[in-house]
Amino acid sequence: MQAADAAALVELVGDFARREIAPRVADYDRAESIPRDLLDKMAGLGFFGGAVDPAYGGLGLDYVTYARVIEEVSKTCHVMGVLMSMPTSLVGGGIAAFGTPEQKEKYLRPLAEGTAFGAAGVTEPRSGSDVAGMETSYEKRGSEFVLNGAKAWISNLDIADFIVTFATVDRSLKHRGVTGFIIPRDTPGLSLAPYKDKLGFRPLSTGDVILQDVVLGPENVLGMEGEGFRVAMSAVERGRLSVASRAVGLSQAAMDDAVSFAKIREAFGNTISNFQIVQSKITDMAVGIRTARLLVQDAAREMDEGGRARQSTSMAKMYASDVAQRTTTDSMQIHGAAGVSPEYRIGRLYRDAKVFQIVEGSNDLHRALIAEMELGIRTKS
Ligand SMILES: Cc1cc2nc3c(=O)[nH]c(=O)nc-3n(C[C@H](O)[C@H](O)[C@H](O)COP(=O)(O)OP(=O)(O)OC[C@H]3O[C@@H](n4cnc5c(N)ncnc54)[C@H](O)[C@@H]3O)c2cc1C
Repeated sequence: MQAADAAALVELVGDFARREIAPRVADYDRAESIPRDLLDKMAGLGFFGGAVDPAYGGLGLDYVTYARVIEEVSKTCHVMGVLMSMPTSLVGGGIAAFGTPEQKEKYLRPLAEGTAFGAAGVTEPRSGSDVAGMETSYEKRGSEFVLNGAKAWISNLDIADFIVTFATVDRSLKHRGVTGFIIPRDTPGLSLAPYKDKLGFRPLSTGDVILQDVVLGPENVLGMEGEGFRVAMSAVERGRLSVASRAVGLSQAAMDDAVSFAKIREAFGNTISNFQIVQSKITDMAVGIRTARLLVQDAAREMDEGGRARQSTSMAKMYASDVAQRTTTDSMQIHGAAGVSPEYRIGRLYRDAKVFQIVEGSNDLHRALIAEMELGIRTKS
């Protein structure tokens, strides 16, 4: 995308977020649901098109621009960043890379146009980080596939029209036994049970997905049989870029708030911005955010060049979410008691920043993966 067009799109998204989302985000965070009218307006502006191919209703953004757009909306509400990234990443990424033309027309196009939403069911009650250890199974009966099992912590349960999920034919085959499936919401045997009162990411409806004798035809298989682990991982890498971009946007918001507050709050006859301990925190925030943004842009460039970007997306996700957690903690400290008040948004940013360190592979897992790639135990691409 031309630099001027990319800058105009980022500006459009930022302007919409400040005008339309900012006045409502605290209320819908408390209410634990995303206002549908906001999503409809965003769909009208093409905000869900992301990097999806224009042939399927997307904007066809390069990943560098896409990451800037997700960062921009996340300065106001990163949960909107989740929804804007899903057609490109966790839900649509696997369909774009492995789906048939019919599946792309039926599922990817409405996602990119914002007329449908999806969920991605990877995590299970007894296997989160260890995706290949999943227990949800499928059995072949003639040309049909019968799925049984459960997924946990799956987002978008209130608005998802379908779920991209994964099941194994034989656990002893580990990742080679896993196949991807697309399950429409009204399929018999599929039930959804959202959790209530989460610490963070509250507007996202997250919960259990239960599969009891769910019967699917071959048109619901995503990719080839046994290819599901690759489908999941290709989507997850794009998802990690999204988490990292959202973490940068949220960190920027936390630092902006710390700077504004420090300039007006007085103590001991000074504004607190004059205290070097406060300044030192702001320095760490500024350096952390800039470094995290560079890592995000580096991973996005690698994806634009057609690479898998396995290590660079891991680095960006781990680093940016650690920066977000430190930045929001320091910003809370600078706010003093005001940070605990619902009058300020830093409390919400603080709660959400912690969750960034857990989702899309916990940071402890990423720390292990990055080293294993350096040691040659795993490949980087
Ligand atoms: C708000 C929210 C939304 C979510 N949305 C979705 C969704 O839409 N779809 C979906 O599929 N999942 C979703 N998840 C689940 C999320 O991706 C998982 O929580 C995450 O992958 C970690 O899995 P786990 O919680 O089972 O942790 P576990 O795998 O049980 O790990 C627990 C801890 O053990 C340690 N650990 C585990 N493995 C290693 C390792 N190899 N090396 C070092 N330490 C390790 C880490 O400290 C880790 O934090 C969501 C979670 C949350 C909180």
